[in-house]
Amino acid sequence: MLEAIILLGAPGAGKGTAAERIREQAGYTHISTGDMLRDAVKQGTELGRAAEAYMRRGELVPDDLMIRLVEERLNTAGDGSFFMFDGFPRTLIQAELLEEALRKRDGKITHVLLLESPREVLMQRLTGRRVCRRCGAIYHVVNVPPKRTGICDLCGGELYQRADDQEATVVNRLEVYRRQTESLIEHYERQGLLRRVDSSQGPDKLVADIMRILRPTGREDATHRNCRGG
Ligand code: AMP
Repeated sequence: MLEAIILLGAPGAGKGTAAERIREQAGYTHISTGDMLRDAVKQGTELGRAAEAYMRRGELVPDDLMIRLVEERLNTAGDGSFFMFDGFPRTLIQAELLEEALRKRDGKITHVLLLESPREVLMQRLTGRRVCRRCGAIYHVVNVPPKRTGICDLCGGELYQRADDQEATVVNRLEVYRRQTESLIEHYERQGLLRRVDSSQGPDKLVADIMRILRPTGREDATHRNCRGG
């Protein structure tokens, strides 16, 4: 049996940070399509070359490429897995194809968590984000500054701003979310899967709220779902 949860929300809502903590606390395998695409670009694969221009502009990579990427990832999953999707699906077509891919594997979506923050919080988070070139650790110039400007506390690597975190691209990414991804809210609301969580108050409160939804009344069965982690 394959079970999946989906983290939905605008860029900057805190999906990536929350996902890492939920992975540690509850053992879901984290699938971030943004990370997978950035990896493909870095490695210069065929997919990376096809996706790079869309990503640079803050636009969505075409659905057929995305579903192929996710199908390949699910194929390496084995049986009895628990997945957490972050940044996928982003269109109704992706949502439908994901449901089909899960059905084929006797799987289902158990929760869709909508992370909500005001627009000015999203803008401030994205434009201030810095990432370590070497280890991928995430900082923020105001909220989570490194000890030394521009240098990663963990590995000493150089911190940089993702091309798509620059202000003009951020404005476009938020508009793309409003136009293409917001329709998913209604889709999952109709299915009775959607739960809204306030993500403007920082990761500790956000993750606690999410864990209460995933693990009501302290049930233990959500811990370390995938023994080999992910
Ligand atoms: P993220 O890190 O999730 O904000 O993703 C960064 C960029 O990767 C997005 O702006 C899109 O260009 C691309 N991307 C990630 N996930 C998807 C998806 N599910 N569908 C289309 N494009 C995606």
